Amino acid sequence: MSEHRGVLVVGAGPVGLFGALRLAQQGVDVLVVEAGSELGTTSKASTFHPSTLDLLDEAGAAEELLPLGVVVDEIQWRDLAGDILASVPFSVLEGRTGFPYRLHAEQTLLTPILLRKLRELNPDSVRFSSRCVSVEQGDGSVTATIAGFDGATTVTSGFLLAADGAHSEIRKQLGIGFPGASYESRALRVVTKEDLREHLSNLTGIAYVRDERQSCSLLHMRDHWRFIFRVAGKQSDAEVLDPEAVRELIDAVAPGVSIDFSEVYSNRAHIAERYVSGRVALAGDAAHVTTTAGGMNMNCGLHDAYAFARAMAEVLGGAPLSALEETGAARRGVVKDVIIPRTESRAAGSDGDADALARAVASTRELAADPERAFRFLYEASMFDTAPSLRGER
Ligand SMILES: Cc1cc2nc3c(=O)[nH]c(=O)nc-3n(C[C@H](O)[C@H](O)[C@H](O)COP(=O)(O)OP(=O)(O)OC[C@H]3O[C@@H](n4cnc5c(N)ncnc54)[C@H](O)[C@@H]3O)c2cc1C
Repeated sequence: MSEHRGVLVVGAGPVGLFGALRLAQQGVDVLVVEAGSELGTTSKASTFHPSTLDLLDEAGAAEELLPLGVVVDEIQWRDLAGDILASVPFSVLEGRTGFPYRLHAEQTLLTPILLRKLRELNPDSVRFSSRCVSVEQGDGSVTATIAGFDGATTVTSGFLLAADGAHSEIRKQLGIGFPGASYESRALRVVTKEDLREHLSNLTGIAYVRDERQSCSLLHMRDHWRFIFRVAGKQSDAEVLDPEAVRELIDAVAPGVSIDFSEVYSNRAHIAERYVSGRVALAGDAAHVTTTAGGMNMNCGLHDAYAFARAMAEVLGGAPLSALEETGAARRGVVKDVIIPRTESRAAGSDGDADALARAVASTRELAADPERAFRFLYEASMFDTAPSLRGER
């Protein structure tokens, strides 16, 4: 069996589905193939930055996502005694965005919204249990072989958007390297279903605890709170997850609070040697993986999807093919020159170094007291300097 489509998207994660929706909204005949039998359900990304909410809004998806998450309108730094060291309200971004706050919501809440909107435009736009097993490029088209329940299908399209995740087979088939490395430090995520605001007064939805004894981040999700600790030592994962050790860490922050779940994950950074090869573009984790510090990787992938969908729609509408290459170079430059260094500096921490911690706290206080610096900080943390522009120039 063979068929023709404007664009084939591989992968129905947040990035593939958002790219497909934007393509469909620009009148492109799009098909998404997903190897899994249903949408992913693993808890991963949890933060949508204001720049991403603006892009989702253009697709009509922000309105439905907002009620499912927690709106966080202020970032706070505090110590273990409960003193507020500094705070910056997202209201400094008013006028720059329709969403002067970050939204804490699991990425698994976004994907069903994108899927439904896509199917409303074209009921046959997403196929599950369909794995892309090979890709060949010809003159002006891409031919992909899709293995499904009922055998193999050949899909010929004008472009292919590879959003097939960090282990991207398409990236490997194209011979594009994915250099990078794991960081020495790992992250420990501990979840409590209790409301931390009943234990810690004046707590905002995102708080950075900075204290000589123990630092961590606290995130408010709809039905739980997360503690994120940086693990710098050489202990094994099992040692880090030892219930007594976890209890001790939590008690230093919020004594006695219940512990419902804990996990350790390693942090790494990888970036594809190039994002575009002929008529195939890599987006999301297929193109880059960064540390989870600052919650930027999925946001960056959604930005890739938006930018590539626009470029592909433009080229299909008659613009030169170079628009795709230019978009790939711009998106790659953003991750290499800005996102990776930024997430690395955020992940660095100053555990055990009292002077470095005191300097970091003093600098944060100065920043919070200076409206221009506070704006710049939140502008960058919200990824406005690295997001594609809305409805306009590339
Ligand atoms: C613990 C953790 C916490 C995180 N927290 C954050 C955060 O707070 N903020 C943030 O921005 N990011 C965060 N991230 C990163 C974020 O989860 C990823 O960047 C995001 O999932 C990438 O989406 P994606 O669509 O590119 O890839 P994926 O979500 O991996 O989706 C790829 C899809 O492609 C499918 N697929 C693969 N191969 C094929 C094939 N050959 N044919 C068809 N389908 C295929 C897969 O089945 C999968 O469904 C976190 C990650 C982890 C692990």
